[in-house]
Amino acid sequence: MKEFTCIICPRGCRLQVDDNMNVTGNTCPRGKDYAISELTNPVRSITSSIRVRNRDDLLVSVKTSGQIPKGKIFEVMEEINKLSVDAPTRIGDIAKKDILGLGVDILITKNIN
Ligand code: SF4
Repeated sequence: MKEFTCIICPRGCRLQVDDNMNVTGNTCPRGKDYAISELTNPVRSITSSIRVRNRDDLLVSVKTSGQIPKGKIFEVMEEINKLSVDAPTRIGDIAKKDILGLGVDILITKNIN
């Protein structure tokens, strides 16, 4: 039996999963999906920030366009840390397409004029 907390919504249900992948403790179906994903292919979204080249000491926030395998988080963060952009930026601009070939883009999440 494995136990962990569902992070899909603020309610934070305590989930239990037995050896046959039966999930209990979830208040809604999303908790069951999360529990099975967490045990078979855990994924996460990443938020971070990158340097704005043409503005002194300014960073712009970014996020992944989707979820990436949990085991790739550090590699993706290393790639994000190498990125920089020029202002102006617009929410939704792509700072890096298909990072590490994972099919996920790094998107700007802040407007800077
Ligand atoms: S099981 Fe459903 S209600 Fe409970 S934390 Fe997860 S998403 Fe929220």
